[in-house]
Amino acid sequence: MPATSLDPAAFIKDVPDFPKKGIVFKDITPLLGNPAAFTAAIDRMAEPFKDAGISYVAGIESRGFLLAAPLACLLKAGLVPIRKKGKLPRKTKSASYALEYGQDCIEAHEDAFPAGAKVLLVDDVLATGGTAKAACELIEAIGGQVVGVSLLIELDFLNGRANLAGRDVRALVKY
Ligand code: AMP
Repeated sequence: MPATSLDPAAFIKDVPDFPKKGIVFKDITPLLGNPAAFTAAIDRMAEPFKDAGISYVAGIESRGFLLAAPLACLLKAGLVPIRKKGKLPRKTKSASYALEYGQDCIEAHEDAFPAGAKVLLVDDVLATGGTAKAACELIEAIGGQVVGVSLLIELDFLNGRANLAGRDVRALVKY
């Protein structure tokens, strides 16, 4: 069986009521732990962007890093970590976004990429889309061009895409 025919959904486990009651957590560790399935998923996430001239892959802390790093190597691009507030050592730009209760903030180094750089944004799950929207705005505030957003999983019923209108959003597995 060619690696690309492995179904990533078979390696994603639902964990009800984690981290709190009412949330069905999508656990991707079985996928990460299976070399054939992991490789196939990364190949498929890269495929739509392989001729797009991507020069940086930006991954959202923390599970986004696990996908963004191999994607960056595959696309022969640099890796840019988008981190929670206060984690990066040098001068940053930040973007805030609303949570169910309160606000959260993500940051990237202000010199993470040169003006006009073509950037692919990567995360594990698109839920409400608030995190990905803030990350796109952060990349643009630094001067990057968001060529696309690549997710392993999209929770369709939360309509996170509405927060990413006009962007090239791809997801391997939809629920
Ligand atoms: P959102 O901003 O609502 O789109 O949430 C996206 C972020 O929260 C991603 O970085 C995910 O890692 C995480 N996330 C949201 N919902 C889930 C879920 N059901 N399972 C796993 N991670 C999730």
